Amino acid sequence: MFNRRPIYFILLILFGGVISFLAIKSKANVELPATLSPAFQLLGKPVKTLDRSLTKLMPISDLDEKKLGDSIALRYESYADEKDPDLIYLRSLISNLTIGKEKRFEYRIFIMDSSVPNAYAMPGGVLFVTKGLLNMVTSEAELVAVLGHEIGHVELSHCMDMVRGELLARKIGASTLGELADLTAAILLRPAFGKNQEDESDQYGYDLLLRENYDPFAMGRTFLKLQEESGGKENAASPIQEYFMTHPYLSHRSEKFSEKARMEEEGKYYLGKKNLKKRTSRYQNEYDQEFITH
Ligand SMILES: [Zn+2]
Repeated sequence: MFNRRPIYFILLILFGGVISFLAIKSKANVELPATLSPAFQLLGKPVKTLDRSLTKLMPISDLDEKKLGDSIALRYESYADEKDPDLIYLRSLISNLTIGKEKRFEYRIFIMDSSVPNAYAMPGGVLFVTKGLLNMVTSEAELVAVLGHEIGHVELSHCMDMVRGELLARKIGASTLGELADLTAAILLRPAFGKNQEDESDQYGYDLLLRENYDPFAMGRTFLKLQEESGGKENAASPIQEYFMTHPYLSHRSEKFSEKARMEEEGKYYLGKKNLKKRTSRYQNEYDQEFITH
């Protein structure tokens, strides 16, 4: 009788351990989104069958950016309309704008069926733009300003840092690629980056505009348009929060980059209104009348 007490005590500790282990495990599971439904709502189509490679359990330490990007892209690739002139146009821009990239993967771009002007960047160079953004911009230079900003988030590793930070905070040690793709989309389809990272990406986008000889005023003009759009529309019904719309710094960013553009040396810059209208990138067809002098 006397000797049994330590055994009860040990059993009690073991039992407690199992209970808290289960509690932690279930907590982690609850926090993982069950499906990509918010993202798929944007595409307006039902979820298609999953690829086998997405269901294998993988330790987080093995997760690299390209792998994660591939798994995110896999979810959207089957919805992409390969003959869509918008998509072909965006792909031509992205492949040319990322020629000087440092990341070792190829960028991919998808169109979201949302009328709200916005764009998103995910790890592994997976970019999204909404139909609303394509309707809002009036020149290729303005579109490149937004694309350059998003490329900046990837090249400067903001996206991957954000995902790693979230996985760490949620104490997720291992998961399937499919679940990680869901989680990443859920994290990055809402306002995710801090002001510093936004500033860095703005600068990256602006430098890219200049490097490619696009109109440097396109950056400030695009921020102004985004701000005007946000004033005129009610976005409460949107399944995701719109970063550009909720960001308080748009007018400041517009002024800052218009001022920078005014400081640039006088020169001939490319606008690309006709390119946008015809959905033919400047890299495919350059029009003489699209060069303007500032
Ligand atoms: Zn951003």
